[in-house]
Amino acid sequence: MDHFEIRGGEMFAEDVPLSAIAEAVGTPVYVYSAGTLRRHARVFQQALSALDRPLVAFAVKANPNIAVLKLLGQEGLGADVVSEGEMRRALAAGIPADRIVFSGVGKTDPEMEAALEAGILQLNVESEGELERLSAVAARSGRTAEIALRVNPDVDARTLAKISTGKAENKFGIPLDRAEALYARAASLPGIRAVGVAAHIGSQLFDLAPLEAAYRKLGELVARLRAAGLTVSRVDLGGGLGIPYDPALPPPPSPADYGAMVKRVTDEWPDRAGIRLMFEPGRLIAGNAGVLLSRVVTVKEGAARRFVVLDAAMNDLIRPTLYGVYHDIRAVRPRPGETLATIVGPVCETGDMFAEDRRLTPLQEGDLVALMTAGAYGATMAGTYNSRPLVGEVLVDGSRQAVIRPRQTLEELLALDRVPDWL
Ligand SMILES: *Cc1c(COP(=O)(O)O)cnc(C)c1O
Repeated sequence: MDHFEIRGGEMFAEDVPLSAIAEAVGTPVYVYSAGTLRRHARVFQQALSALDRPLVAFAVKANPNIAVLKLLGQEGLGADVVSEGEMRRALAAGIPADRIVFSGVGKTDPEMEAALEAGILQLNVESEGELERLSAVAARSGRTAEIALRVNPDVDARTLAKISTGKAENKFGIPLDRAEALYARAASLPGIRAVGVAAHIGSQLFDLAPLEAAYRKLGELVARLRAAGLTVSRVDLGGGLGIPYDPALPPPPSPADYGAMVKRVTDEWPDRAGIRLMFEPGRLIAGNAGVLLSRVVTVKEGAARRFVVLDAAMNDLIRPTLYGVYHDIRAVRPRPGETLATIVGPVCETGDMFAEDRRLTPLQEGDLVALMTAGAYGATMAGTYNSRPLVGEVLVDGSRQAVIRPRQTLEELLALDRVPDWL
């Protein structure tokens, strides 16, 4: 559910007409609904309410805007970060350090130092080399790193290959059969306190079965670790629950279905006592809370099809180009009837296409359109290809609106380059 609705013939973000935002700040621009973000944070936490003190750490990579993080922090969420930059954003947003988890397969020494210095809750370690380095960094600084071992449960998440992370051939995590030895090693290293295990098998999951299989394996691992005399007090179950992009497809499992599955499976763990569960949803919280608002630059009758050229492009929203995935596209002021159109951006790449032969309301030059479900992995994946300035972001809350990131100016974009004085 989201708060982008047609009222009196035009689309609103909560109580603000999208046309007013386009008028005020120009296009393309991402528009987020605070009400939708809050709702998703509450629905997810509600779905886990049968669990004891779960920690929900928002996957910052889905939408790292500091205003968005602040709002989610106010809803009680923590942050799952994968770089020092994301950690600093979470801290700048006022998310307490003891709700921050540092994930990622390639943490550098300076990132480890920064995490220890900030006193975050936990680092999820993904390899033996990383564990040894973290121990050295922690010992050097006289601090202790609480760690969870991220394991690779070798399950097929049945999602897009590029966002599948829990198969043996993926780069993520430690093979399950090596986890016990490495956990024991972690428990013996200076500067390290091994507190738990973690898994994250992929993103945009529409099937709970692979998650359930992974969670069962985690439960069995916890029992083996404890049987070996090791201490385990946290299990991080990752993120990954899918969201509906295409309204014509059957919906994904609901947060409530997911929460019930987690409760059932973890209750059946051989040794569940004293384990705090952690979660890292990203897309589920932010995806439907944002749209990319864009204007039709021109309509072009090609030899084979009709092209609608937007002022947004693959550099602003790369998901369709990168993954070949569907985003619903709606006119801000829909006209009656439907025509077939191919929706593209102005970038000089054939892959700069948002929709191919899509049946939608007739669009004309100057019309506003909303690319739906763009609140996660949207602005954060934007770039400046074709020297297009970084896209802006607006947050709407009821009838209030604020620019939470101005669109980069061409002056700012050009000022990043340096010309050596010997040229
Ligand atoms: C990307 C990622 C997430 C969030 O995934 P979603 O599909 O957005 O929920 C959570 N944890 C880790 C480790 C990730 O890399």
